Amino acid sequence: MRILFLLFTLLIINPLLAQDKQEDTYVLITNVNVWDAKGKDVVKADVLIENNLIQKVGTNLKAPKGATTIDGKGGTLTPGLIDMHTHIMLNGPDAFYSGSQHYDSYTIGAWAYRDMNMLMDQGFTSIRDIAGNSLGIAKARVNGVIEGPRIWSSGPAFSSTGGHGDAGPWNQLPGETNQPHELMNFGVADGKDEIIKHARWNFRHGAAFAKIMAGGGVASEFDPLEIIEYTQEEMETIVSICNDNKTYATIHAYRDDAINRAIDAGVKCVEHGFLMSEETIKRMADEGIWLSLQGYVSTVQFAAAAQVPWFSPEQVRKATQVNEGAVQMIEWARKHKLKIISGGDMFAENTPIAIKNLTIEKTLGFENWEIMQHATYNAGQVLAMSGPARNPYREGPIGVIEEGAYADVIIWEKSPLDDIDNLEIKGNIKLMVQDGKVLKNILD
Ligand SMILES: [Zn+2]
Repeated sequence: MRILFLLFTLLIINPLLAQDKQEDTYVLITNVNVWDAKGKDVVKADVLIENNLIQKVGTNLKAPKGATTIDGKGGTLTPGLIDMHTHIMLNGPDAFYSGSQHYDSYTIGAWAYRDMNMLMDQGFTSIRDIAGNSLGIAKARVNGVIEGPRIWSSGPAFSSTGGHGDAGPWNQLPGETNQPHELMNFGVADGKDEIIKHARWNFRHGAAFAKIMAGGGVASEFDPLEIIEYTQEEMETIVSICNDNKTYATIHAYRDDAINRAIDAGVKCVEHGFLMSEETIKRMADEGIWLSLQGYVSTVQFAAAAQVPWFSPEQVRKATQVNEGAVQMIEWARKHKLKIISGGDMFAENTPIAIKNLTIEKTLGFENWEIMQHATYNAGQVLAMSGPARNPYREGPIGVIEEGAYADVIIWEKSPLDDIDNLEIKGNIKLMVQDGKVLKNILD
């Protein structure tokens, strides 16, 4: 009986399965200067894409049968850009307090989709969404239900009561929730038990890593920059659940004490860090801790914090503090060769100018190729830290042009490696391929 069944399987079902298998698709890109994102060099080469991955990079590649061949017209081919600090769900007129006053989560989702596509238009084919409940949208994106940048979502960020993610009203009672909390843009959790429950909820819903509000924040109401927001034990608890999920935690923090406590607890990445001492920066460099850099917000917008429409006087004071530390911190980060990724933190009304977080780095002493690397190769290293279980895109590396990497590529007419400001030229993106699909081609 079993043999008969096997025969049936082989004869009847297999041909049906074979019929279902999709044909391989090929895209061959020729006549381009390829920057693989690993260093300074740009080389003349062809790039062959098979389905959603890069199959080969080399000279005189032959087009397989049925391949689409694209003449790159001498443009510069780079990986698609990656913004490592977005908040697509903190949106609309209430921005940071998304949904607390005038809109519901459906509307916020619609805005998020609009903003995802605004980011795509600027060249961001991937984002790391780091606080805000983008877990459902990330799932829809990975399943191909919607288009837009690939999303590595932290889901709701961990915040203590009164911490950077506590967006409730001042007169809230202990244990009471509020609308921002119910939307799960932030997860207010105090103590070991609440934290464990919250962490497991995040990973149940597809979180790729954890974001911890470790120290005071600018945009929030109840937390001066000087405070530490989680105890050592609480931070270690989050990290231990991340370790169990083979992924990592990153923190929001500005100052030495919060950052050192978090590194002691096993955190691998620091967002902001603008008020750090040189000693802490040295420690990060020695221990291989990543810095996620917001050059534009810290050095340009916080220099004129009073003009941010939704900042209170206290928020203006905090933003000014950050601005005063930023340039010095970045100089030390360069001096000690800190591992850097670019994370704009440019949400809501800032989304259309998110690319400025890269172009501003030129004024902070970085070379063009280094800036590009922050948003490609380096970003890919951090995205890979989501590990075998929680990385939603684990077929190959991302942010690099090499065999086996995801085929997310851009051809720029004017190379950002010659001048990073070329990123801001409208119409400079002549070709955009994401996951092997040609989304834009205006080469002709
Ligand atoms: Zn942020």
